Amino acid sequence: MITIQNLTKKYNGQIALDQLNLKVNKGEIYCLLGANGAGKTTTINLLLGFIEPTSGSALINNLNVFEKAKETKKFLAYIPENLMLYPSLTAIENLDYFSGIAGKRLSKESLISFLKEAGLQENAFENRITAFSKGMRQKVGIAIALAKDARVLLLDEPTSGLDPKASNEFGQLLHNLSQKGVATLMATHDLFRAKEVATHIGIMKDGQLKEEFIASDISLHGLEKTYLSTMNYKEVEL
Ligand code: ATP
Repeated sequence: MITIQNLTKKYNGQIALDQLNLKVNKGEIYCLLGANGAGKTTTINLLLGFIEPTSGSALINNLNVFEKAKETKKFLAYIPENLMLYPSLTAIENLDYFSGIAGKRLSKESLISFLKEAGLQENAFENRITAFSKGMRQKVGIAIALAKDARVLLLDEPTSGLDPKASNEFGQLLHNLSQKGVATLMATHDLFRAKEVATHIGIMKDGQLKEEFIASDISLHGLEKTYLSTMNYKEVEL
């Protein structure tokens, strides 16, 4: 569903993404790890068409995102670190609005069923977003992805600042979406959640993909060791 080929991005001659090659198939959850400035957000912003590549290509469902920007967006849902929702609208109203933008006119029953599927507690459906925790807002984001019937989910540090229960719930929701065939690419610093939820894990440094694993082939400790050595950081013995 996501195919990135030799994707390169330079800002004023400075390389941010260097010949990246990466694939995420249907039902896979690919977690992209890397220090600040490694190129994770640049990768996601390129897939979203927010920025143009210097060279290379990115395909969503076999369509080039830079040539077919409008079509590829139909398949995509995006949840950034802080999801922008309308604070003065309720959860149902936000879902109605954002699914409407995606071309879906849904009944109240359908909107409710998507919020339920996203795990939002029912007594919050008619509440304004202002009072929502980050975890609750992320669930509205998942409901939007479900309502839109997104085939590809792009996530940029979605679990940062979530408490362990909310982060665990979020991981469960990603797993449910992958069971439906959704391909997920998630940039994160959360090695633990990456190991828990990912089918595939990549480690980036200086705009390059340095390591790539099938998540079940590596232990959490092994992942941490590899991550630190990729960063040229010596593990501290406690
Ligand atoms: P973080 O974990 O901090 O979010 P990241 O892995 O997402 O980091 P990017 O935000 O993709 O990293 O940044 C990759 C490189 O590109 C960095 O060197 C960054 O300074 C540079 N960069 C990103 N956006 C711009 C921009 N708009 N203009 C100039 N340089 C940029």
